[in-house]
Amino acid sequence: MPASPFPAVWTERHRLHDPGGEVWVGVPIPGTEVVARGDLIREALETAGFPILPPAAHGAGHLHRVHEPAMVDYLRTAHQDWVAAGYPEEPGQDRVVPYTFALPQMVADRPFRLPVAPSARAGVYIADTTTLIGRGTFDAAVAAADCALTAAEMALAGTPAVYAVCRPPGHHAGRSFCGGSCYLNNAALAAQALRDGGVDRVAVVDLDAHHGNGTQDIFYDRGDVLYSSVHVDPGAGWFPHFVGYADEQGRGPGEGANLNRPVAPACGDGPWLEAVADLCRAAAAHRAAALVVSLGVDGAAGDPESPLGISPAGFCRAAEALAGLRLPTVFVQEGGYDLNRLGGLVVGTLEAFAAAGGQP
Ligand SMILES: [Zn+2]
Repeated sequence: MPASPFPAVWTERHRLHDPGGEVWVGVPIPGTEVVARGDLIREALETAGFPILPPAAHGAGHLHRVHEPAMVDYLRTAHQDWVAAGYPEEPGQDRVVPYTFALPQMVADRPFRLPVAPSARAGVYIADTTTLIGRGTFDAAVAAADCALTAAEMALAGTPAVYAVCRPPGHHAGRSFCGGSCYLNNAALAAQALRDGGVDRVAVVDLDAHHGNGTQDIFYDRGDVLYSSVHVDPGAGWFPHFVGYADEQGRGPGEGANLNRPVAPACGDGPWLEAVADLCRAAAAHRAAALVVSLGVDGAAGDPESPLGISPAGFCRAAEALAGLRLPTVFVQEGGYDLNRLGGLVVGTLEAFAAAGGQP
């Protein structure tokens, strides 16, 4: 008997965020985190019969549970300040993009000065030149956060599994920084909402091809939320380069509640699924009472953003392993950039989870 699909939370407000490309090694390139992603996923969900619900609006107070308020304020005003400074006319850049960065070794242990120039202020909060801010970026990021928060509230109310179709994605956004096409950390917001709703211990399992350095940053000192990730080895030259290594295991009360399982480029299904099994064992050992899955499908063979080469069947096996935990589960969309396969990969993974009885 086919398993009944579970609800998905989606909003057309994701279209407000059109990064208009990115700047990589100084060169403007088209970029892969495009508006079509959100619409292709919705089409695939509709075709497969998933009920699609709109998110409820949440206030800034929810965002401040995982993000520094000053960063949220920055994101809200960055584009209008940029336009007011005249950059769209001279030198002709209508998206916010930093040109200088507040590296820790340059500014640590000195009084913090927020730069007056909007072009420099961007380098306080944005970690790279591939995370551009346009007119509607903040509103779309808030809408994506609302999708994740709504999904978490549905899980708290007893819905066994919910999927938040978040775009822009979130797992590279930390407590006080944006980066990697991410602005607000949707998965962290969902995990925090579960905690605030009374779930004692939460596990985040991150299947995206890249390490979720933002989610790790937010929970690194905490023992109540396990962050665990399988991703392409940053030591082999892959984003986010600076973090995502196996010896990052948490700090203080969070010691032991951070698990990184880097895998080699082109590893394929076998080693990747062994790592997924490790993440599931860690979630069980953490005695998690709810699960947040950062569902990036950019590890798939043919994706332009990763070399992992995971098959569609591999994602289904991963979903079955997650279903075996028998926990209330919130799926949060992260990466996935092969527009021809994105919808099918996401829906196939969710259907495999449902078919495996991924419900408490
Ligand atoms: Zn990714």
